[in-house]
Amino acid sequence: MATVIDGKAVAQTIRSEIAEEVRALSQKYGKVPGLAVVIVGNRKDSQSYVGMKRKACAELGIKSFDIDLPEQVSESDLIKQVHQLNVNPDVHGILVQLPLPKHINEEKVLSEISLGKDVDGFHPLNIGKLAMKDRDPLFLPCTPKACIELLSRSGVSIKGKKAVVVGRSNIVGLPASLLLLKADATVTIVHSRTTQPESIIREADIVIAAAGQPMMIKGSWIKPGAAVIDVGTNAVDDPTKKSGYRLVGDVDFEEASKVAGWITPVPGGVGPMTVTMLLHNTLEGAKRCFEKNH
Ligand code: NAP
Repeated sequence: MATVIDGKAVAQTIRSEIAEEVRALSQKYGKVPGLAVVIVGNRKDSQSYVGMKRKACAELGIKSFDIDLPEQVSESDLIKQVHQLNVNPDVHGILVQLPLPKHINEEKVLSEISLGKDVDGFHPLNIGKLAMKDRDPLFLPCTPKACIELLSRSGVSIKGKKAVVVGRSNIVGLPASLLLLKADATVTIVHSRTTQPESIIREADIVIAAAGQPMMIKGSWIKPGAAVIDVGTNAVDDPTKKSGYRLVGDVDFEEASKVAGWITPVPGGVGPMTVTMLLHNTLEGAKRCFEKNH
C-alpha cells in the first residue's frame, strides 16, 4: 500500500515555518509582508478562494490588502489599481483572482503586475525564466511549487527519475513539467491528443496528474512504487452527500494506492498546499524587498 501524503499536515508545518519567519522579519525590520488580493465581481467560487487567502494571511501575520472591484469595472481602471499596488511599498505580492469578467483581457492585466510582486508566478518573464536553463524566476507558480514541495518533503528524489505530467495548462501542467526538468527529471507531457497515455504513464517513477478528468488514471496505469501527485479536483454527483456531490481527483485513488509508493488524496493533498505556497511566495518577495532597502 502506498504512503498517503497528507497535504493538510505538510501545509500546516510550512505555515508554522512562515509565521516564524514573519515574526523574525517584524523584529528585524519593524515591517511585515503584505499581500494584495484583487477580486472583480462576485462569483461564489472566486469569493471563497479569496476569503481563504485573506484568512490565511491574517493567521500568519501577513498584512492583507483587500481590493474588491465591481463586475463592470473597466480594464483600464483595473490596470490603474494594479499600478498603484505596484508602487505601494507595503505590498510585496499582488494576486488578481481569475477568471476575470469577459470584457477584461486577463493576459494584459497579469503582465502589468510588477515582476517583483508576481506571487502567482504567471508573469510571462517569470515563466520564461522557469523555461530557461540556469535562470531562476523570482516566483514559482503556486500549484506546481506545491507538487514539488510535497515530493521533496515526502523524501521522493526527483533527479534522474522518469516523470510524466498529465496536462499542459499554463497554470499547472506546463510549469509543473518545467519544474521537474529543472530538478533533473526526464519529463514527458501527456495531453488530450496523446495516444495511449497509459503506456507512457506506466513508465513513470513520478506522475503529476492535472487533466481535470475524474479518475481517468487507473491503478493498472501506475508503475509499482511510483510517486503520484494528483492535482485534479473534480466534482462528481453523489446522492449520498448532503451537497449532492463529492470531489475526486484525476487518479482512481482506491486502485492506485494499492500500486503506488506514495500518493496524494483528493481532497487533502495538493489543495491545502496551494494557498500555503502563495503565502510562501509573499514571504520571499518581502524578504527580497526588506534586504534590498536595508
Ligand atoms: P485545464 O486548463 O482545463 O487543462 C487541462 C489539461 O489537461 C489540458 O492541457 C488538457 O490537454 C489536458 N487533458 C484534458 N483531458 C485529458 C485527457 N483525457 N488525457 C490527457 N490530458 C488531458 O485545467 P487546469 O487549470 O490545468 O487544472 C487541471 C485540474 O487541476 C483541474 O481538475 C483543476 O480543478 C485542478 N486544479 C487544482 C488546484 C489545486 O490547488 N488543487 C489548482 C489548480 C487546478 P489539452 O491541452 O490538449 O487541451
